[in-house]
Amino acid sequence: MQETKKFGEISLDELPQLEHSDTKISEPSTVFPQNAKTNWEKIMETALLLAKEAEEAREIPVGAVVVDLQGNILGKGKNACISINDPTAHAEILALRQAAQVRQNYRLPQTILVCTLEPCLMCLGAILHARISGLIFAASDTKAGAVVSKLNGAGLSWVNHRFWFAKGLLAEQSAEMLRTFFKQRRKER
Ligand SMILES: [Zn+2]
Repeated sequence: MQETKKFGEISLDELPQLEHSDTKISEPSTVFPQNAKTNWEKIMETALLLAKEAEEAREIPVGAVVVDLQGNILGKGKNACISINDPTAHAEILALRQAAQVRQNYRLPQTILVCTLEPCLMCLGAILHARISGLIFAASDTKAGAVVSKLNGAGLSWVNHRFWFAKGLLAEQSAEMLRTFFKQRRKER
């Protein structure tokens, strides 16, 4: 059965094509070329590697990258809350922070955040403040996700910034990493 899409949601077959610097991707309405998904998978693989690094540092395995519309990576992040004693050090926040330094701008229009897990409420806030164009995430977070799971984060009526999003890209790889991590952690208790 076809799931109903949330406001701003596009399917993985509708992911925007990279390398068209003249294409403005602000609305998920265009018909995109078919092979775009492969490029986004490569970018997601980078985020998954970051998640793996977080796991090795005994952090919850989440990774994120910010890319421009040509696919250039502007920022990378991996969960680091425990390592740096910072409750805000989620992968998405760190990636956005780095991208903002690269751009020398606190706003990040014409960028896309690619992350391995559905962003939480805090990260949704950062996404909206950063004014990114789009969001692609792998696994959904049924317990704390603020984009589709617990909140329809792209469709808040009182927020004046709109972004498109797509979920489920390489979701199984991310979900498996998270499952293994939490299973291991329970065992250690
Ligand atoms: Zn978060």
